[in-house]
Amino acid sequence: MTQNQPRIGIIGAGPSGIACGRELLRQGLTDFTILEALDAPGGTWRVQSYPGLACDVWAHSYSFTYAPNPDWSANFVERAEIQEYLAKCWEEFGLRPYTRFNTSIESAHWQEEDSCWRLRTEAGETLDFDVLVNAMGNQHTPLYPDVPGKDRFLGESWHAARWNHDVDLDGKRIVVVGSAASAVQIVPELAKVAKHLTVLQRSANWIMPRNRRFYTSAERRMFRRFPRLIALTRRVQGFLMGQVEHAATIGHPRMDQFEWYARQYLARTIDNPALRAALTPDSRYQCKRGLISDDFYPALKRDNVELIASGLEEVTENGIVTADGRRIDVDIIVYCTGYRILDFDRIDVVGSEGQSLAAAMGDTPKAYKGITTPGFPNYFFAVGPNGLVLNAPYFKTAERNVETIVRLLKEMGESGIRAVDVRRSLTEEYFHWMTTQFGKFSWGSPDCHSYYTNAAGHAPFLFPGNFKHWLELHDAIGLDDFNVVAGGDVRPQPSEKSRSWIPSLVKQRS
Ligand SMILES: Cc1cc2nc3c(=O)[nH]c(=O)nc-3n(C[C@H](O)[C@H](O)[C@H](O)COP(=O)(O)OP(=O)(O)OC[C@H]3O[C@@H](n4cnc5c(N)ncnc54)[C@H](O)[C@@H]3O)c2cc1C
Repeated sequence: MTQNQPRIGIIGAGPSGIACGRELLRQGLTDFTILEALDAPGGTWRVQSYPGLACDVWAHSYSFTYAPNPDWSANFVERAEIQEYLAKCWEEFGLRPYTRFNTSIESAHWQEEDSCWRLRTEAGETLDFDVLVNAMGNQHTPLYPDVPGKDRFLGESWHAARWNHDVDLDGKRIVVVGSAASAVQIVPELAKVAKHLTVLQRSANWIMPRNRRFYTSAERRMFRRFPRLIALTRRVQGFLMGQVEHAATIGHPRMDQFEWYARQYLARTIDNPALRAALTPDSRYQCKRGLISDDFYPALKRDNVELIASGLEEVTENGIVTADGRRIDVDIIVYCTGYRILDFDRIDVVGSEGQSLAAAMGDTPKAYKGITTPGFPNYFFAVGPNGLVLNAPYFKTAERNVETIVRLLKEMGESGIRAVDVRRSLTEEYFHWMTTQFGKFSWGSPDCHSYYTNAAGHAPFLFPGNFKHWLELHDAIGLDDFNVVAGGDVRPQPSEKSRSWIPSLVKQRS
């Protein structure tokens, strides 16, 4: 702690780490370091490099609210452009002097006697911080299917998240395992070069057309000259994203309308009745993440592409066996099988009670309003369990979360408090309330099994509400919601007003 300024460590220089650094500077906290494993900022958009990688949120909305970009080339943009935008923001926000690249964190242990976090890097260095912000991202670690034989395959295989650019794909027999978010982007690219491409689909997804359109230079000039046009564009997009929340709400007419629209698109694009039937989902809209693509269905119609509506059963020396018993010889296997979402064991975090974060989180990760959890003083998630709002662009939620965190840090400094730990009872109360809300949404319903739910059937990823609701919850966060662990006075219990947010909001919304 220097001159009432806590030493703050931020792990990760993706969108949320950049937002956090910018917010710290804005609120006058300057003793911080962004620790990034890679050699440049950009997070996901730096790590991932599979062919076809693009954002499925409109570019003008997938941007910092305070850094609109008139130069987006299209309404939806690809990886390189987003990475470039993030690097530019990082530079313009003045974060260069505060960032350490090529610094991979392996562990973070709370030091009771010094009230600080002791971090260990992969290189064996030790770093101490009073406050730690986890901005490590929640979709990072590749998830492979649990099937026998993966190691005995004699050809090349890799996960979409760790693309092997050294292998020539031209004229190869390739199988893509999976048909969700990354597969719909990869398949059209592989289809152009593969001799034969097999796509294994365990369950069909709702797919809407992306309607990608490049902006003309005149349009970009207008965006530059009249920034209000960008604000207006975001507003329209925000309204449309709001409809996605309705479409995920059980009983809301928007769900049927979205499904009808997606079915029409499928019928328009795929003539073959058997293929159309195979591509028709049997789950409700947004139980699995809704997808957008202009070129996935057309790719499946090519002569060199086959969709098999069956999962992967086994990998052999020369290929694969599908769940419905087909043996297929291939040269390359690409696993598009998702990520270990919220993998709290990615680094070894040990809190004040000697418990690891991974163990504390278990199957039902609990975080008070998505940003902090009991037993881990001065540890904050930029976007933690149930800390992401479905109907808002990622940037907006991340910006709001880090704004709350930095506000709390400022208030701590002003009150001479060095360390706080969120009250367990309040966190339990909040969590209990959330469990009463999940069933309202297709992605949180007990009969939905998707990447939104874990093996225990719990849905730890999304907040069961909308962005307006999220803002209300974050406005109500105060230091009274925390126990003081070091420095300052013991805080009073949360006031009636502060404690009553759950029932009052439930009442408003039921
Ligand atoms: C393939 C893919 C496609 C996606 N597409 C979309 C999309 O279309 N729309 C959308 O809204 N979202 C999408 N997402 C989600 C996307 O991750 C978020 O939108 C956003 O990038 C998350 O930002 P973040 O800063 O929280 O985390 P990340 O972008 O994941 O950044 C985390 C950073 O932390 C660093 N890091 C991790 N562990 C350590 C460590 N131990 N030590 C040091 N540094 C570490 C990483 O290197 C990385 O730079 C996608 C995710 C993936 C994986």
